[in-house]
Amino acid sequence: HDNDRIKKMRYHDLGNTGMKVSIIGFGAAPLGRVYDADLPEEQGVAALQHALRGGVNYIDTAPFYGQGKSEAVLGKALKDVPREAYYIATKVGRYELDVKGMFDFSADRVTRSIDESLKRLGLDYVDLIQVHDVEFASSLDLIIDETLPALEKIREEGKARFIGLTGYPIQVLRSIVERSKVKIDTVLSYCHLSLNDSSLLQHVTFFQERNIGLISASPLSMALLTDRGPPSWHPAHYEIKKACHLAVAHCKQHGHDLSELALKYSISYVNAVPLTLIGMESKEQVDKNLKAVHDGPSDEQEQFITDLIKRQVHCCFITISAHGSL
Ligand code: NAD
Repeated sequence: HDNDRIKKMRYHDLGNTGMKVSIIGFGAAPLGRVYDADLPEEQGVAALQHALRGGVNYIDTAPFYGQGKSEAVLGKALKDVPREAYYIATKVGRYELDVKGMFDFSADRVTRSIDESLKRLGLDYVDLIQVHDVEFASSLDLIIDETLPALEKIREEGKARFIGLTGYPIQVLRSIVERSKVKIDTVLSYCHLSLNDSSLLQHVTFFQERNIGLISASPLSMALLTDRGPPSWHPAHYEIKKACHLAVAHCKQHGHDLSELALKYSISYVNAVPLTLIGMESKEQVDKNLKAVHDGPSDEQEQFITDLIKRQVHCCFITISAHGSL
């Protein structure tokens, strides 16, 4: 059964890293209880193990997700899983919920951070270490002159194999790529290749020309495109939340599931963006999302997606604050 599911998964090259990643990756922010404050730990562990058995081979986490909780739960879930069965990415620079302790991109903090992450994860190395939400650094010079050189050292020490950036404003990610003296292997953009905002597509050539592995996170726009709706910290304006709520109802009325359509829409751009990270918190969600990958959109679903986009669900968040991002 699991072999059949693994055969149906598709794998693509992530930039020049040599990593062949499943087209959907396991977003582990939910394991830090950022969406469901009562999520039972065993349920998250079961979801991850189920995803790995279904052929998902990439996991994304960060110290910020539940202030260490996501990494600690992963540590338990991965204890008996062979290391070669998955790639894992974590991040540095973003920590506490309180704004005062939220960001620290200094070389000293970054250097301690990777050791703390490895300890929680129970691993000797991660595949990818990323600067978390670069736009919140006090200046981009700090990222260029301190954070990235510190990550280069971490890579040389064998604690991480590759180096990446994450953030919301794509232009900021591009400027750092252009200025960095350290080789950037991957860039993670979020909520920009979703049904309601596909602006990442305008930047694909820039990243491809530089052999950067492009990662798109949050195909459900951080739960905006779900029945349950977004969490209280979600940054979207009231009008956008309302439009998405109406879109859920509109889809239901016509026998469609907005989350399923949204994931199918995002992964249809796999040749431009090889990896889509989706947050999953139960085996049922994993099954549903694997089925979406296996089946792809039917002709009727494709038509419905086109109509949905025409109906102006298409809009982005406009501003994102430190309190409204992952
Ligand atoms: P997402 O858009 O993937 O949505 C996750 C939410 O959707 C969860 O509440 C989950 O319960 C729900 N969900 C998943 N599948 C569903 C389905 N089939 N039907 C209904 N609901 C479903 O948002 P995300 O988790 O924020 O993004 C994915 C991952 O990307 C994160 O977990 C994180 O690892 C990463 N990420 C990184 C950054 C960054 O580095 N700055 C930002 C955002 C996300």
